[in-house]
Amino acid sequence: MSRGTCAVIHLDNIRHNLQVARRHAPHSRIWAVVKANAYGHGLVPVAQMLAAEADGLAVATLDEALTLRAAGINSPVLLLEGVVSMAQTQTALDADLELVVHTMDQRHWLAEASVQQAVRVWLKVDTGMRRLGFMPAEAGAEYAHLQALPQVATVSFMTHYARADDPAHAMTPQQYDCLHSVVPAGCEASLANSGGVLFWPGRQGDWVRPGIMLYGATPAPEQSRDRLGLRAGMTLYAPIIALRDLVPGDTVGYGGGFSTDRPLRLATVAMGYADGYPRHAPNDTPVAINGIRCRLVGRVSMDMLTVDVTGLQDIGPGTPVELWGPHVAVDEVAQAAGTIGYELLAGLALRGRYDYVTERCS
Ligand SMILES: *Cc1c(COP(=O)(O)O)cnc(C)c1O
Repeated sequence: MSRGTCAVIHLDNIRHNLQVARRHAPHSRIWAVVKANAYGHGLVPVAQMLAAEADGLAVATLDEALTLRAAGINSPVLLLEGVVSMAQTQTALDADLELVVHTMDQRHWLAEASVQQAVRVWLKVDTGMRRLGFMPAEAGAEYAHLQALPQVATVSFMTHYARADDPAHAMTPQQYDCLHSVVPAGCEASLANSGGVLFWPGRQGDWVRPGIMLYGATPAPEQSRDRLGLRAGMTLYAPIIALRDLVPGDTVGYGGGFSTDRPLRLATVAMGYADGYPRHAPNDTPVAINGIRCRLVGRVSMDMLTVDVTGLQDIGPGTPVELWGPHVAVDEVAQAAGTIGYELLAGLALRGRYDYVTERCS
């Protein structure tokens, strides 16, 4: 039996957010990024919907890509970090994946692989992120090596922006110019994550790679989801499992993390850090009940948290509490807990159900 904790996944909102990406990057094709279990929203159901809307799907691991193929998804699939062995190379090519190549080893494995049809690969260039890719000075030689392989039909170029979430930072145009200084005429380029899509018109390239924005969270905390016109991809709910009345002088939870000097009504909710709700969420972190915002009080424990429900009508055991969703942006919870929406969504470890509907669950 479920304890009533659930994530409602709003596929219609995710589709809307993809359309927002299209409006911002009208001249680009879209790799919809579904890594990390579709940022916690459930890989296959989300990918099935996005496969019909985007130009391709992008994942971080071979396992994720194979899961998509096993689910019957035939769209282009891009492996964002490529492969880590010869065996993976062959498996990836057999599954018709597009590979990022960022090391010479990856090129050597490709040269050993057998392919039915020559494939497209993405040559990754490190234009300043200092994480992955060939240095710009190496890119020309690497391009020539890849081009010469019979396994390779097309070489496209990729880089990753380090500061695209800052709409004014000079590094993004520098990275753009750096990549284009090594891209031969006629080759396609992919540069932009969600920040690049939303804040850098003209620096997006032929293929954009939005992730977080599809799920209705902001890549830049100072630009709210609502302001960006994005809609919540998920409502995370947990039911009230107990109510109690506090008297002045009571303290709540581990360490007495909250104390009251007046009478309060307190609800205990079936959600804790073992579900991925952040333990660092402090007193006053917002939650919503029946669409009304109220506040967390006391420390988050492993399986439960506590909410001040003083004065709220029509609540009782079983009433669903929205931890994040349309009334409380996941970004607000993240900010209160000193992190980003990405981490909360990707780190969700819900002990409960996923419902791919638009209605709230009971
Ligand atoms: C995760 C990832 C993205 C998506 O980034 P968002 O900020 O979530 O839009 C794009 N490109 C690469 C290479 C990634 O690893």
